[in-house]
Amino acid sequence: MDRKKFIGLFSFGTAMTVLGNVRSLASGFPEDGSLMPVLFVGHGSPMNGIEDNEFSARWKKAGTEIPRPAAVLCISAHWLTRGTWVTAMDQPKTIHDFGGFPQALYDVQYPAPGNAELAGETAGMVHKTPVGLDHEWGLDHGTWSVVRRMYPSADIPVLQMSIDHTKDPQFHYELGSELYNLRKRGVLIIGSGNMVHNLRMIAWEKSEEPEFGYDWALQMNETFKQLILKEEHNRLVNYQNLGAGAGLAIPTPDHYLPLLYILGLKRKNENQSFFNDKTVMGSVSMTSVRIG
Ligand code: ZN
Repeated sequence: MDRKKFIGLFSFGTAMTVLGNVRSLASGFPEDGSLMPVLFVGHGSPMNGIEDNEFSARWKKAGTEIPRPAAVLCISAHWLTRGTWVTAMDQPKTIHDFGGFPQALYDVQYPAPGNAELAGETAGMVHKTPVGLDHEWGLDHGTWSVVRRMYPSADIPVLQMSIDHTKDPQFHYELGSELYNLRKRGVLIIGSGNMVHNLRMIAWEKSEEPEFGYDWALQMNETFKQLILKEEHNRLVNYQNLGAGAGLAIPTPDHYLPLLYILGLKRKNENQSFFNDKTVMGSVSMTSVRIG
């Protein structure tokens, strides 16, 4: 752990002194018990960050359907750490965390501000684990590819929370639930990953048929949706028990875990809906969830 992070880890106590300031962040969002919706977004290929296609068009539409948030907090599949961190810089940089793509993708900048006070408050509301304040990461493509479509003016603060890769799925589900009060403050929490995500099994030979999905991928996509609708969160947390298809859909947990944060934020009887419900390239599902 470097020095900045070390200091950040122990600065979360100071977050308690700025709660009053943070409350004003939510001006414009009613303080009447209203809850900001939460999203799980299947982000798929980095190219969705610059291509105008049905997926990016739907992200743009989501930005108009949801009340304008005071800030965005994104749990991206692409920020895996030891320990849990939240970005706390004033101006997070745009991270191009991929290789071998066209220059246009590297040219993208998304200059949304950060919000150090909100980062402090977020760290302070989590009791499950210490949350460090990070000053080095920024916005990776799991975040910006989606959020810049939703809020192209880049005038809403955007924070990221990392995924502690040393923890089990139950940890992530419970940590998500601890962020609940942010919903009352008008913070839009987004989990960005893919429910079905197996890059080793991409169907390159079907490149002429981009919406092709292997049978197991289609089946697991349907299984996940049904379990979400029936609120069988325990089975989704213990996804390793869902059979061989789950092993193919989730060969590594990074793109699945953001979903568990979002499910942990759901209250009973809240509306749930799906969008971009498609499987692409054989082994990746773009299926996304709106709760609330
Ligand atoms: Zn990804």
